[in-house]
Amino acid sequence: MSSLPLFPEVPTGPIAKALRVHERLCAEYGCPIPWFRSQDPLSELVSALLSHRTRNASSGAAFRQLRARFPTWEAVRDAPCVEVQEAISPVTWPEQKAPRIQQVLRCITDRRGGELSLDFLAELPVREARDWLEHLPGVGPKSSAATLLFSRLRKPALPVDSHHHRVAVRLGLIPETTAVGPAHRLLEAQLPPDWDAQRVYDNHEALMLHGQRCCFYREPACQRCAVLDLCPTGQARLASQRGARSAGDSEEEELPAT
Ligand code: SF4
Repeated sequence: MSSLPLFPEVPTGPIAKALRVHERLCAEYGCPIPWFRSQDPLSELVSALLSHRTRNASSGAAFRQLRARFPTWEAVRDAPCVEVQEAISPVTWPEQKAPRIQQVLRCITDRRGGELSLDFLAELPVREARDWLEHLPGVGPKSSAATLLFSRLRKPALPVDSHHHRVAVRLGLIPETTAVGPAHRLLEAQLPPDWDAQRVYDNHEALMLHGQRCCFYREPACQRCAVLDLCPTGQARLASQRGARSAGDSEEEELPAT
């Protein structure tokens, strides 16, 4: 007689599975998730450049200091680099980020014929807007998606941060060898193309929150995970822990009485 599978309803195919994960984590973290801010796309791009390998609190403080010191983005672009560097001192590598931000601001001005604004991206399809942004120096898929989704443009572009990426790998949504950059296209392709910005945002936030609150980098809390039945990593981890426990029990049983 064949035994019943432990988890009989596990969907097959990456798209079906991605949707199951989305539904489950949305129920867990309360979708629709409120937007955390609504600023113009140029400000959002600068925020994204500041946030690289920096805690949110530090990049937020640097952004506020930058805005307090310079009244406009033109003033940031044209300031002595050392002054921009001082203003963004709370971030990691301010000495690299200050010249990079100024380079990006100059590049946008040149490509837009003297205008320093990204509001025109509202008129472009998402893919075209992402390509435009990703041709700026140092702007990759995460920054381009964040600029389009988190800003008041509210375009359905999916950012993937390190938490989101870790959860997606462990769930088997993307291969373990896929780096964060290439993961953007793979994970975006698993979402229905007609999803609006709110649903794409919910997807990103729910996977990110799961990485922060349950699927920790070290010691993920698989026992209480809402998607354990969909997760090969979590099931293998728990099976190996059970195996180690029962091996320990057998050794204890074999110990001679003292
Ligand atoms: S089962 Fe474990 S490894 Fe898998 S998503 Fe949940 S916490 Fe992460």
